[in-house]
Amino acid sequence: MTAPTFANESIVPVSKETKDIAISLRDKAINDDSAYEILKSLTTEVGARHPGTPGEKAGIEWAVSKLKALGFDKVYTEDVEMNGWIRGLETAEILLPSYQKMVITALGRSKSTPEGGLEAEIVHFKSYADLEKAADGSLKGKIAFISNRMQGFKDGSGYGPANIARSKGHELAAQKGAEALLIRSIGTDDHRNPHTGATNVAMGYTAVPAVALSNPDADQLVRLMDYGHIPKIRLNIQTKDLGPIVTKNVFGEITGRELPNEVVVIGGHLDSWDLGTGAVDDGAGVAIAMATAAFIKDNAIIRPRRTIRVILWGAEELGLIGARAYAKARQDDGSIANHVIGSESDFGAGPVYGLQSSSNVSPNAIHVIDTMAGLMGKLGVSRRSGNTTGGPDMIPLSALGVPALNLMQDGTDYFDLHHTPDDTFDKVNPEHMRQNLAVWTVFAFIAAEWPGSFK
Ligand SMILES: [Zn+2]
Repeated sequence: MTAPTFANESIVPVSKETKDIAISLRDKAINDDSAYEILKSLTTEVGARHPGTPGEKAGIEWAVSKLKALGFDKVYTEDVEMNGWIRGLETAEILLPSYQKMVITALGRSKSTPEGGLEAEIVHFKSYADLEKAADGSLKGKIAFISNRMQGFKDGSGYGPANIARSKGHELAAQKGAEALLIRSIGTDDHRNPHTGATNVAMGYTAVPAVALSNPDADQLVRLMDYGHIPKIRLNIQTKDLGPIVTKNVFGEITGRELPNEVVVIGGHLDSWDLGTGAVDDGAGVAIAMATAAFIKDNAIIRPRRTIRVILWGAEELGLIGARAYAKARQDDGSIANHVIGSESDFGAGPVYGLQSSSNVSPNAIHVIDTMAGLMGKLGVSRRSGNTTGGPDMIPLSALGVPALNLMQDGTDYFDLHHTPDDTFDKVNPEHMRQNLAVWTVFAFIAAEWPGSFK
């Protein structure tokens, strides 16, 4: 009799020793506050980190010095060229039928109104699709207002359908002849906070000034129109195109003991919008990734076989700019082949409930993902079907064939806070950060230690 083997010789099992180490790391990480503490430091000692601002520069300096203080083997940065944009003054008031101030914010790369603002009546569309039906040029002298509300779901699936008004509404409004675009914020809260966010503009400005209203202000406009009024508003937005600027991706590595050139990529994006302090988007992801690699280095009885590369991505919010530059450079120099598997944490600070793998994970490696999910079961995580890119900044790497995982977080309240002044540290639950650290530690340790190929 020979010893039992896997039927397919190319299937490499996860050893008992690897599983035992992952279990002991998991059970220690669930009591460890390092991710929470890193997030507290970033959001308190730095704050908002919008490209082209002193806050972004301070965030990059913070990341380099924190990675060094955590004892990473290698800490370095790579420059990324981009075009900067910043907001200035932004006010809006209802002039008729009665004077009222509204709470608004400019969308990313919005162009300015004329100095002193513009005054116009609004024309209401219940959705982007309704604005599409308006005749070209029919909104001359008016402001187009799109009022549909994003639906809240645990997995955030209401975001995509609502988001087209934010990303492409400005072009459509211009095509219809409007002076400006006003949208209901893409968010699920009832607070008087507007949600900013990117438009589909890579550089320069939107076609017309493009602005988001807080949900209560959008409701107010809709009610006025229900009464039969045609609100006239004044909108004053002043923004600035900074032209070419340089941002950075920041890296911290725990060098692998046997296969140092093979890398497991984990990360979050270091930039944030400028309104809050970027706690749930995406300070949490930055902190979880940094804490995970440092925790494995400090607590595993062996250094993992492969390198764990923490990437703190630059300028995600303005269009995955750091991630695209990173993937392009690795495609050009051929080192893309060394990327074993990756994932980004970029969906807030809620607990992880599901583990999903991308379609480019080899069938021979699926059992490893199943093993990870099994070990995460005690933490409330279950194996999920479906495909994934592994998070926004993993999209360019996934497109080049790098296998990816999605550590699915409960996003029930994520879009209450997302891109608003309310995205601050006090919203983060330390217990959830400990759970994230434990889940990410199981994933990163096994991915870096298991000797088989995920491709
Ligand atoms: Zn994000």
